[in-house]
Parts: sequence; C-alpha cells; structure tokens
Amino acid sequence: MTRTKMEASSAGKQSVARDFGFHIVYIQKCLNSKFLIPKNILHSKKEGKSIGFLQRLNYISPIIAPSMTILFHPDYLLHKQWAGHPECPERLEYIMNKLEKEGLSDFLEVQDPSTIEELISTHTQAYIETIRDFGEGYLDANSIINSNTYPLSLLSASGVTKAAEFAAHQNKPTLALTRPPGHHAGKDFGGGFCYFNNVGVAARHLQKKMGLKKIAIVDLDVHHGNGTEDIFLADPSVLYCSIHEWGIFPGTGPLTQTGVDEGEGFTLNIPLSQRCGDETYHLAYRELLMPILRQFEPDAILVSLGVDAHYKDEISSLTMSSLGYLKMCANILELARDICNSRITFALEGGYHLNALSEVIAGVASLMVGKKLHMQYNDIWDNDEGWGYSEIDNCLVVQRKHWDL
Ligand SMILES: [Zn+2]
Repeated sequence: MTRTKMEASSAGKQSVARDFGFHIVYIQKCLNSKFLIPKNILHSKKEGKSIGFLQRLNYISPIIAPSMTILFHPDYLLHKQWAGHPECPERLEYIMNKLEKEGLSDFLEVQDPSTIEELISTHTQAYIETIRDFGEGYLDANSIINSNTYPLSLLSASGVTKAAEFAAHQNKPTLALTRPPGHHAGKDFGGGFCYFNNVGVAARHLQKKMGLKKIAIVDLDVHHGNGTEDIFLADPSVLYCSIHEWGIFPGTGPLTQTGVDEGEGFTLNIPLSQRCGDETYHLAYRELLMPILRQFEPDAILVSLGVDAHYKDEISSLTMSSLGYLKMCANILELARDICNSRITFALEGGYHLNALSEVIAGVASLMVGKKLHMQYNDIWDNDEGWGYSEIDNCLVVQRKHWDL
C-alpha cells in the first residue's frame, strides 16, 4: 500500500495525541517546541519500501581528501547540564567509542582555550564578562551555568577555531568534536545549550588571523542558528545558510530574513515543515545551497553539524536518515574541494539520539578518508519529489533577488 503525504501526516498527529509520553513532554518543555512528533512512533507505521534517491545509491562515493583531522579534548566530557538533559556528555562518549571501533579515533588534542581577545569580535565584552562572572544558575530554562561553564565554553570555541585554522593551513577537511555547542549564542545572548558561538569565533579568526576574506557557514542543525545569524546578519563577508525545522525552538529563521544593511542577501534561511527529510534536503542542496555557495566563492566553509534532524531524534519532527546526512556532507565536501581548496570544518552542534548521532559523525569522518561505513538508520521517509518541494520553491523566489538561481 502506498501512503500519501496526507495519510502520513494524519497518522503522525494521531500518534502524538495517543502516545505523548513524559519524555516527549519534557523535551518539548525544554525546547518550547510548537510541534513535536515522536518519530519512532510515526515510523513504526511505515508500510512498503521507499525507493528514494539514496536507496538507489549503493554507497556514498569516497571523497575526497587523503586524510582528515579531528580536534577533541577529554574535558569536553566534563560539561554537564542536569540529569536527563539531552545535551549530555554521553553524546561525545558514544561518538568517540564509535570512532574508535571504526579505527577513526586519531585526534589532535585542543591545547589552549580561546581568550577574551579572540571572542571580542564575535561577542560583546559585557556578554563575555556576564558568562565569566555569572556564578551558578540558569542562563535560560534549558542551559545551566556553573564554575565549569566559562572555561569549557572557551575550550569549545578554541576547538572549532583550531580545526578551522588547521583546515586553512593544510587545505584539508577537519572535524571539531566539542561541547558545549554554540550556534544559539549571539553577540550578547546565549541559551539553547549554547554560551559562546564556536563557529562564529572560528569565522572571525579565519578572517582576522588567517587573512581569509569570505567565509560561508552552513548550518545543518535542525534548529535555526539564531546566534550565528545575529552575529553576521549585517556582514556581507560571511554567508550564513541554515536548513531547519520551522515552528520549533528558537522560533527564528523565516525564509524572508535575508540579511540587513550591507549584509542584505547574505543570509539564506530554508525553513522546512515537519516530516521533511532526505529528498527535501537534496533539493535544498541542489537548488539553493550549491549554486549560492558557488556564486559566493568562499575562502573557507564552516559546517554547524547538528544531527537532530535525524528521524531517530525525538527533539524534532524532520526525518533525515543517516545516509541522507552523509550524502549532504559528501556533497558539501566535494563542493569545498572545488571552490575553497578543501578548507572546510565540520563542527558538532546538536544531535541527541546517541546511536544515530555517533554513526553519522563517524560516517562523516569516514567520508574524509574514503572509508565506507555501514549505516544502521537508513529508513527514508521523504523520497521521490520531496515533501518540502513547495518550501524550496518559496525560498527560490526570495533568493532569486540576490542570486542567479
Ligand atoms: Zn539543534
């Protein structure tokens, strides 16, 4: 039996009404989501086999770079929210265990934390000092601060910065496995598990210390990177691109927000409705991301790699598969080779299903060395024409004012 989009939507909503358990309520309370479908439940209703573009591919073609570098520090495991919080140390433990199991665990240890001077071009001094002097408490309802928060946030920013610097020096892709994440931290605000904007600090470092002029940030986390957008909204030298679920935390990122002042045209928001997944992301890449990145001609690319759009991740209602993530990352890696000599860094943001998160991150690491990993979570919900095709069309209409699409 072939399911229609309408049937799938209806099935999902009925599941929510019937099975809205404590865990889901907790997560929703944490993230103030407007919509949240427990996708494992929705998924159990799947009938028949899908034949999307990813299933027609037997493998992700090995890219690309002869080697890859991972930046990590064991202290990233010391950052803790509260018991049961989704942004937990186990996220990195699972990733590192998976990398070790796959023989991909060689990493460079981050040496020094970022300094206030390095952060000052990304955050206001007053905000940096607020985090430093906060003491103990809550930055927002989802983000605790204690004595570890400030030094570990500086170490996290440093990890992404060093990874970006390494990529720029070596012309090779790098992977920064850091905590806490950063893309919800703006010039003078934090929250959503984020304190300092790791990718933002790295972008400014590449410009100020490495002499690179144009940086592209591609945000694949399911939540809109309101902090990153805030930092670069008026800046034409940094192109911010985000694919995110519309209607959930933090509630920002409409397709009509394309930048302000001199930065007009240098923000690309691709908000998607629930259920969108592999094929819609493929459309977004082919129709928007790829041509815009080619025309922008960045000197380096930073990827905010959140894995929380995965169908196994209960924090969102998008349905990306593991292979879907790998296909996106492979495309971006290949593009980076063409347009910026492989100066590209993938920086960990969200992703809360531990097994899905760890297999996608290990898969990305394996792409960089041309190794093929088996992916466990490959159910494809969004195939053929793409459930979000009309949303991609709407973005095209908006972005054609700024780019040749
Ligand atoms: Zn997220």
